[in-house]
Amino acid sequence: MTTDLRIKDFKRIVFFTGAGLSAESGIPTYRGQGGLWHEYDWETYACQKAFDRDPAAVWKFHNMRRAAVAACAPNKAHLAIARCEALLPDVTVVTQNIDGFHPLVGSRNLFELHGSLWRVRCDTCGAIKDNRDLPFEDLRCGKGWWRPDIVWFGDHLREDVIEGASKAISACDLLVSIGTSGVVYPAAQLPRLAQRAGAVTIEINPEPTPMSDAYEVCLRMGASEAMALLCQGLDV
Ligand code: NAD
Repeated sequence: MTTDLRIKDFKRIVFFTGAGLSAESGIPTYRGQGGLWHEYDWETYACQKAFDRDPAAVWKFHNMRRAAVAACAPNKAHLAIARCEALLPDVTVVTQNIDGFHPLVGSRNLFELHGSLWRVRCDTCGAIKDNRDLPFEDLRCGKGWWRPDIVWFGDHLREDVIEGASKAISACDLLVSIGTSGVVYPAAQLPRLAQRAGAVTIEINPEPTPMSDAYEVCLRMGASEAMALLCQGLDV
């Protein structure tokens, strides 16, 4: 399916992104071939209990994830999204990705629902800091431990982040969802807010998803090809 809808014709735009956006950068998605959790058990490496048991082992795993992301680069679709924000007055990015590619290419009006691999948070005092050490080895923060500032299995999403994202999505007139399977909750239900508010909704994903019915237009193609189509008429 193609479309004659163009991003430049809308006033309040939200990009809602998932792992498929970074697939063209070489970062594997979760569900699909080469998915991380086929190989590693999240109960050993990606939950607070595992961290309490053995912070060094959990950091070893996350240092490996950091190295894998650092070996890749943002792709044309990340760049097109950042360019839209630079050119248009009201563009918000709501991402489920933790790879940090959106801020790297200049997206600033950004909600990282699941945190970032490139931030650490003290599990005792709650302090948060940016950190790009590779590997990250300075594990202690006073009496606490620095853990990755990402949402692990069993963690709650930050309330201010989910509220900010929900507000932007409820107020948009165009929601473009890119590369998400729509099965990770509560993030997966957010596009429904745009649908209920009467916004135009577009799904970019080569495959149908359980959320496809929330979208008026489904572009069954990769992220950068679809963004090139939707950005026609803009200098991206
Ligand atoms: P997912 O792995 O569940 O689904 C990825 C989706 O992307 C699939 O539906 C797939 O068909 C689609 N896709 C594959 N190639 C594509 C392309 N070139 N263009 C557009 N779409 C493409 O990902 P999810 O829905 O984001 O949920 C998984 C969770 O895993 C999220 O919480 C996310 O934070 C996390 N995750 C993040 C990264 C990352 O930061 N890059 C990578 C893997 C997983």
